[in-house]
Amino acid sequence: MDKLKLWQATLAQLQLSVSRAEYSLWFTKTEIKNISKEADRQTVQISCQNQYIADKLAKNYSGQIKEILDSLTKEANSLTFNVSKPIIKNTNQGPLFSFDAHKEKINLISQSLNKARINPECTFENFAVASTNEMAYAAATAVSNQPGKAYNPLFLYGGVGVGKTHLMQAIGITLLHREPQTSILYCTGEEFTNEIIEAIRGKTTGYFKRKFRNVNLLLIDDIQFIAGRATVQEEFFHTFNAIKQMGGQIVMTSDRLPEQIDGLEDRLRSRFEGGLTIDIQEPNFELRTAILLIKAKQMGEDLPMEVAKLIATHVASTRKLEGVLVRVISEKGLRKKQLDTDLVLSILKKTDIQNGQKPRSLATPDKIIKIVSDFYQLKSADLKGTRRVKHIVLPRQISIYILRSDLKLPYQEIGRIFGGKDHTTIMHSEAKIKTMLLSNEKIKQELQQIRKNLF
Ligand code: ADP
Ligand code: MG
Repeated sequence: MDKLKLWQATLAQLQLSVSRAEYSLWFTKTEIKNISKEADRQTVQISCQNQYIADKLAKNYSGQIKEILDSLTKEANSLTFNVSKPIIKNTNQGPLFSFDAHKEKINLISQSLNKARINPECTFENFAVASTNEMAYAAATAVSNQPGKAYNPLFLYGGVGVGKTHLMQAIGITLLHREPQTSILYCTGEEFTNEIIEAIRGKTTGYFKRKFRNVNLLLIDDIQFIAGRATVQEEFFHTFNAIKQMGGQIVMTSDRLPEQIDGLEDRLRSRFEGGLTIDIQEPNFELRTAILLIKAKQMGEDLPMEVAKLIATHVASTRKLEGVLVRVISEKGLRKKQLDTDLVLSILKKTDIQNGQKPRSLATPDKIIKIVSDFYQLKSADLKGTRRVKHIVLPRQISIYILRSDLKLPYQEIGRIFGGKDHTTIMHSEAKIKTMLLSNEKIKQELQQIRKNLF
């Protein structure tokens, strides 16, 4: 059998055992360059398109290929994988072989993302930046530019839905686009825990170690989960050290600071704190608006700004933002309605009722300020202004209090509405009215009346 026929026969058998995607990714444009024989050993030289593929074949497929070649040639073959220009045209072409380099790279990246279970939408481009997350964003981009060097480990912490997972995955995506051969592993602290427990039980810790310690970038989401479990922490400690020693990068997220994670061993805590620790705060109103616009665009919708702002005013959590947006868009499609503020208001009301809550007040900040100023026979501009005379200050504080308690707007956003006031001023106003309400009957009644006017 000549080289060409032998390789065709080998590929034909390989196709039976590997997936279509694997096959097209790794075996496209491979061929047997040379067969040489010495004593009782035969060497088969396989040429590949590039070094990455040659390494991949040597590492993952040489056993399989050897088995097929041995049985076809009735020889004990040893294999080499090299890079070289094709010397023969592969006649066994099909659609699988019509690849160009760019397509192949994109394919490789999307395969790697898939394998690492990274959501390809979680890019830096799709991440809106505001004061609450700009530090984390800057650190994450720095890490993606200089993995293993800039900040190692990078430890991001913050509440639910603030974008920790998104940023962490963006690092992986950026790195893969620049260096498609980077090996990346993303998993949650919970998955890490389960895998190590399973490995110990099934006596496969060797596999576990190879899997986790040989990566260039390890992304562990919600690391707090490993706390309190001695064997898991032990394993993570060694994983951490091994990766760092080889110049790899580690990124972790958590819902709190390392020092606040109960049951976390000191040696891990000190390692977690040895790089850069950054918090991400709850998204403010502007950021929520920006996130909505980005998400809508991803869903192929052109969201009007006033609609985005209305949703951002009434929905505080990022996760819920997405939920409301999906409802708005699907309702629009189903009922052939306009994507406008009325549609959003009706959906917000429905959502409240479905959640067993009393429908929230859907007043806008401007409406609240207007009603308070009418009640005290002032102008909205007085309340939003800076004059500090008593007959204006108290109504101003009352409207701040209502914006806070009824719309749950963040301090910064209320500060912005009131002409750029500092958030501490807003906090002070809220606290002041809260205290007055405990003892001052007159204020209590006025507030009741204002609320009646409002709703
Ligand atoms: P966390 O991991 O902190 O709980 P996620 O990263 O899962 O939060 O974010 C929740 C959702 O909000 C995701 O869909 C994410 O894409 C989106 N999101 C959060 N912050 C931003 C942001 N700054 N820009 C764009 N989308 C964001
Ligand atoms: Mg997360």
